[in-house]
Amino acid sequence: MATNSIHWFRKGLRLHDNPALQEAVRGADTVRCVYFLDPWFAGSSNLGVNRWRFLLQCLDDLDSNLRKLNSRLFVIRGQPANVFPRLFKEWKISRLTFEYDSEPFGKERDAAIKKLAMEAGVEVVVKISHTLYNLDKIIELNGGQPPLTYKQFQTLITLFLNLHYLDSGFDIEGLPSAVWPGGETEALTRIERHLERKAWVANFERPRMNANSLLASPTGLSPYLRFGCLSCRLFYFKLTDLYRKVKKNSTPPLSLYGQLLWREFFYTAATTNPRFDKMEGNPICVHIPWDKNPEALAKLAEAKTGFPWIDAIMTQLRQEGWIHHFARHAVACFLTRGDLWISWEEGMKVFEELLLDADWSVNAGSWMWLSCSSFFQQFFHCYCPVGFGRRTDPNGDFIRRYLPILRGFPAKYIYDPWNAPDSVQAAAKCIIGVHYPKPMVNHAEASRLNIERMKQIYQQLSRYRGLGKNFTVFY
Ligand SMILES: Cc1cc2nc3c(=O)[nH]c(=O)nc-3n(C[C@H](O)[C@H](O)[C@H](O)COP(=O)(O)OP(=O)(O)OC[C@H]3O[C@@H](n4cnc5c(N)ncnc54)[C@H](O)[C@@H]3O)c2cc1C
Repeated sequence: MATNSIHWFRKGLRLHDNPALQEAVRGADTVRCVYFLDPWFAGSSNLGVNRWRFLLQCLDDLDSNLRKLNSRLFVIRGQPANVFPRLFKEWKISRLTFEYDSEPFGKERDAAIKKLAMEAGVEVVVKISHTLYNLDKIIELNGGQPPLTYKQFQTLITLFLNLHYLDSGFDIEGLPSAVWPGGETEALTRIERHLERKAWVANFERPRMNANSLLASPTGLSPYLRFGCLSCRLFYFKLTDLYRKVKKNSTPPLSLYGQLLWREFFYTAATTNPRFDKMEGNPICVHIPWDKNPEALAKLAEAKTGFPWIDAIMTQLRQEGWIHHFARHAVACFLTRGDLWISWEEGMKVFEELLLDADWSVNAGSWMWLSCSSFFQQFFHCYCPVGFGRRTDPNGDFIRRYLPILRGFPAKYIYDPWNAPDSVQAAAKCIIGVHYPKPMVNHAEASRLNIERMKQIYQQLSRYRGLGKNFTVFY
């Protein structure tokens, strides 16, 4: 009997290092590749135009790479559960393959498809390749609970380090050209450029921020890892190889993979928690009585806070779909415990709409972190929406680039133009309160009050739950 396979692309939009796709091909007479453009997904209010375009570019690139192999990508509009039974029949399918999805709602969807396929007599093969590790194994090793400190997570994965568990509808016409073009071809070019920075690999550090690194980098990888145009495992092995070459065969430290492991950490924390992106009913999230303030939220989302540093970041995010890690810190702190006292869930939704790399687990986990709602709680440290930017980019070039209205201000006032004398504002052709908004809050007062609120919340928690003084315990 003929073996006819379907490979179902979801993330993992690539041909390289794609074990599930390999399974589809193994001994098959025919292989068809499908991608579902779920109408719900396309119409979702949380998918911004930049990410939509990035996805279409990824699909286009995948299709042209498949065509080079005399195949093609079938892009299907509809719900997988409705369409698969017809495809199984029409194409006489005997095998369905796809990449494992660790997110709770993905697991639910896949369980339903698996059942449906099995009823139709179709064999289902699922392979892990969006993460480095089998997350369930990490959880199992941790007594059935996801590790909730990075340190604990690192300890667990050192046990795996021998790698034997490393399972080998918008109108986009008229948009300015993409700063981050989508697709596997671009991803593979970027990884090579990324690795050319040998010194960086040898001294692998946390992402530092300076004026230059605030801008989209031709070596940035997060949107490609998010859509799976780039295999995280390929990245991992290339890092290892390069390190061994640079450091004359010595064993790489865990820190070499630092950023990749943070991604893995959040995936592990989220995989068994369907409420990971919510405060209510989320067992690891501290309950904080955030304010509801849609006007203030809109000011942030529309880059009208009156703080040039924050507004420039939000403009970059809206226009290009990516901002630097510490720029994300600045915005997340400003919206939540720093200044506006608005729930992290609201900020997470704004990021979800606008980020190219928006990722259910990493985005929610990072927002909980930054708002002191879970993981480490260092609420006494707050980012200043004036001083943080000034230290990073003293001349304010980043602001001038994304907020041209402020271009005429001298460096001395570009982070706090409301303090500029009238004559300076007039010379800059920008009157604060007329051409550019006044700051929406008094940062010094707001942050003092908010730190006090956080302190009280954590004091109460420690009283009720017997937490230690350093507030780094989870519940
Ligand atoms: C509030 C907030 C929200 C965030 N939301 C997302 C998100 O939705 N999707 C996302 O991929 N990253 C998110 N991050 C993490 C981080 O900011 C980005 O991954 C990073 O800026 C991407 O830039 P890069 O590709 O140059 O990363 P590099 O520094 O080159 O790192 C390589 C890869 O490691 C991963 N990575 C790096 N830093 C982190 C981190 N702290 N946590 C988890 N993974 C990391 C990314 O996949 C990245 O591409 C968020 C951070 C914050 C503070």
